[in-house]
Amino acid sequence: MEKRNVIKQYNLPIEVKYCNKCTISNQRPRITFDENGVCSACNYAEYKRNKVDWTLREQELIELCNKHRKNDGSYDVIVPCSGGKDGSFVAHQLKYKYGMNPLAVTWAPLVATEIGRKNLDAFIHSGFDHILGTPNPQITRKLAQLAFKYLGDPFQPFIYGQANFPMKMAVQHNVSLIMYGENGEVEYGGDMKNAFRPTREIQDHDKHYFSGMPPEFWSEHGMRLADLKPFMAPTYLEIQSNNTEIHFLGYYKFWDPQENYYYCKEHTGFSPNTERSEGTYSKYASLDDQIDGFHYHLGFIKFGIGRTTSDTAHEIRDGKITREEGIALVKKYDGEFPRKYLQEFLEYVQISEDEFFEVIDSWRSQHLWEIENGVWKLKHTIYEGQGAYGI
Ligand SMILES: [Zn+2]
Repeated sequence: MEKRNVIKQYNLPIEVKYCNKCTISNQRPRITFDENGVCSACNYAEYKRNKVDWTLREQELIELCNKHRKNDGSYDVIVPCSGGKDGSFVAHQLKYKYGMNPLAVTWAPLVATEIGRKNLDAFIHSGFDHILGTPNPQITRKLAQLAFKYLGDPFQPFIYGQANFPMKMAVQHNVSLIMYGENGEVEYGGDMKNAFRPTREIQDHDKHYFSGMPPEFWSEHGMRLADLKPFMAPTYLEIQSNNTEIHFLGYYKFWDPQENYYYCKEHTGFSPNTERSEGTYSKYASLDDQIDGFHYHLGFIKFGIGRTTSDTAHEIRDGKITREEGIALVKKYDGEFPRKYLQEFLEYVQISEDEFFEVIDSWRSQHLWEIENGVWKLKHTIYEGQGAYGI
């Protein structure tokens, strides 16, 4: 299998550096570090905690709601929501605290988990109108296979729908406001140009979410336009003439994933998993899809950043754990292979186990990985000595 040029594809620095405050490294695409070796996400967390006047921001939210509010009974905000703690928090707050009339929309998981479906049902039952978008599963499966092989991320078809389906629903229902939870680029490190404003530019979608490969790209691999259409955004003209605005609640209200979890446990019937997710220690984030463990694992292979690194980095910024505790957790769990759903995954994307590992290894960049005694090992880790999975 052809070796991938991860450095070039994601514009990664060759020298690996870790943030002095959290556990993230400079290998996260688009993250920046300041002269003190602190990452942009930590600086944003500091700013969010100390500099933002949240009373004023809430006032801005109320004004935004008033601007979009409708009095004829039709929907006035689209809330993308999988039934997880974050989207459910957004929808519930908008409806029950700010008096909006949201339409909750979900893009179907590739392979749903039982707990994910249960949480989505509980959320809907807590009092929402809801639309589920399910594209042809055979096409989704084919796209997941292609995206795994060529992009190193089987989750890409889901990411298309997650970004584009709400826009489609907004246009279809004449709703000009779409409200997401947090802006991942700002909260977790990435392009900071949106840090000081509430909206997202639709033009950035291809760059931030689709790695420069929008759904149309797969027509080169034999996919028909009719197959790809459900994954595509409405036309730019449709988006504009609908006056579509995409906002993040994280701009208006202090964003704290753990608090969202407590909130949804109380208000939307959310339950955490009974066991921790593979590759990390947490039980309440990203539970909906059997495939997403592979999305996180590929992140670990490409960037040396596993799910525990991401989870600990934001928990350190949120003041839930110390950096030392975070490093210990990374040492213990980061890079754990998502074994639980491996068979389902191989069947789903219809490849053999050998082929699977060939694809995985094609994404291991030399600046991050070396082989020692026949075992792949990360060249740089944030912890001393041997880790359980970064070896
Ligand atoms: Zn940091």
